[in-house]
Amino acid sequence: VIKPKPKPKWLRVKLPTGKKYKELRGLVDKYDLHTICTSGSCPNMGECWSEGTATFMILGNVCTRSCGFCGVKTGRPDTVEWDEPEKVARSIKLMDIKHAVVTSVDRDDLKDMGSIIWAETVNAIRRMNPNTTLETLIPDFQGIEKHIDRIIAVNPEVVSHNMETVKRLTREVRIQAKYERSLGVLKYLKDQGIKRTKSGIMLGLGETEDEVIQTLKDLRAVNLDIVTIGQYLQPSKKHLPVKQFITPDQFKKYEEIGLEMGFRHVESGALVRSSYKAQKHLT
Ligand code: SF4
Ligand code: SF4
Repeated sequence: VIKPKPKPKWLRVKLPTGKKYKELRGLVDKYDLHTICTSGSCPNMGECWSEGTATFMILGNVCTRSCGFCGVKTGRPDTVEWDEPEKVARSIKLMDIKHAVVTSVDRDDLKDMGSIIWAETVNAIRRMNPNTTLETLIPDFQGIEKHIDRIIAVNPEVVSHNMETVKRLTREVRIQAKYERSLGVLKYLKDQGIKRTKSGIMLGLGETEDEVIQTLKDLRAVNLDIVTIGQYLQPSKKHLPVKQFITPDQFKKYEEIGLEMGFRHVESGALVRSSYKAQKHLT
């Protein structure tokens, strides 16, 4: 039996506290609001929530894909709830969220791949929360432009799509995705006029430094604005094991390399998640 590697001290986190956190936690529990922050027990909840940022998942809780790193359930997806956009918009209002990140499971089972609900969610949020800014963390929509166009049409302040890992490991980490296709989605978003594009990768899956730097170069080559780099943590024993814990110095090094390359923002650190400090990326 191979024992999992013990977590280094920089990955130990304090439980979230603070007045704003307690207030929001109360609301989330009372109204059964669905945030990724709570369902994924994100270590940054105290920090994000006190700044008025939270992440919401749409299109159900079951994904048609089965990425080796991801804790979301795979299988037969939920039926589409056409009132979901309104529900999310109402949650954002109740929680008084200043900057909302919206993401979804992949819906390869649907003809529109969920893109209609996506666009309606953005519209509903804007209607009910005219001062809330938005980041949409979208799936690849299999690279099909007419689906991506629905996102472009509603023009969120930030549009992100995660590469998750380096090219060599993409097959192992995200079996139904393709490295080049994801890059193509990011390129298309930028070419079609999205003001801020963003992507994220996780480290500790066995990638080398050169491969990380190559990924950053590939992302710069499609004019990406913002990149996040964090430590992969295994959600359960069934998921891919952690191969390395990246040191704080190494994260710092990637940050410097990224800034040098010309990204507008680079968030690089063990606890960085793709929506961490998301409101900062509006500048
Ligand atoms: Fe929520 Fe993302 Fe912040 Fe975690 S990093 S608390 S998931 S907004
Ligand atoms: Fe998880 Fe997204 Fe992969 Fe689905 S597509 S398994 S939600 S990472």
